[in-house]
Amino acid sequence: MSAVLEIEKLVKRYNDGTLALNGINITIEQGEFVAIIGPSGAGKSTLLRCINRLVDSTEGHIDFLGDNVEKSDKKALRHIRAKIGMIFQHYNLVERASVLENVLHGRLGYMNSISGVFNKYKEEDKKDAISWLKKLGLENEIYKRADELSGGQKQRVGVCRALAQNPNLILADEPIASLDPRSSDVVMNSIYTNCKEFNIACLVNLHQVEIAQQYATRIIGIKSGEVVFDGKISELSSSLINDIYEGKEEEMEQKALS
Ligand code: ADP
Repeated sequence: MSAVLEIEKLVKRYNDGTLALNGINITIEQGEFVAIIGPSGAGKSTLLRCINRLVDSTEGHIDFLGDNVEKSDKKALRHIRAKIGMIFQHYNLVERASVLENVLHGRLGYMNSISGVFNKYKEEDKKDAISWLKKLGLENEIYKRADELSGGQKQRVGVCRALAQNPNLILADEPIASLDPRSSDVVMNSIYTNCKEFNIACLVNLHQVEIAQQYATRIIGIKSGEVVFDGKISELSSSLINDIYEGKEEEMEQKALS
């Protein structure tokens, strides 16, 4: 196995002084399916966003396939982002565009800016996008507008868009937090099976521990911006789970009272 991602001593302090990440060290191998769990506000989303530099880190290093993320110039960052698919809680689709166009947006990182502006996708990219949509059971939705779809269908389009990038890494930030249990299963399955089939590494933020245990081979627990657990599911005991989430309820109660 070889590392896709190496994160060393990563710190993120937001401008208002909030310390969201406090010295994170993580290495992810090609094809690993890793769930990140932890209470709300732990820093899970900030971590994923630092990896593709939607958020700039404050200190530390992020290496993606040997390229330094935090020091990359615009061109290098574009190259890095093309190989990292992102799946968002609220799908981030262009609602007025067709399902097919939304999936093709996954190819924009590979196109020159002129072709991108005029949406001049290659025939081969279109065929590929259609085959992803068929694979994920959206053959009847290909030419519909994204805003005509249900939440579960929208998220499957989000998964297709990420897969169409031919990524080495997928970052999924609470991909099922807005979905009902049935759609959640379909979406998690589609992410999991395709990552396995194509040896794509995946980091998925989940607040449901049971779902993390169902899919991931490795779990990383984050609390107050620090990694407090990194191991196999079999090593994650209920007392460790309690430790990861402990204190959160009192904190929420205090916030509600203040
Ligand atoms: P999680 O994904 O685990 O819920 P986040 O990464 O969203 O956690 O947040 C981690 C911490 O950073 C929280 O205290 C949150 O309030 C804070 N935070 C997140 N985004 C910002 C921002 N843009 N500006 C200031 N603080 C932020």
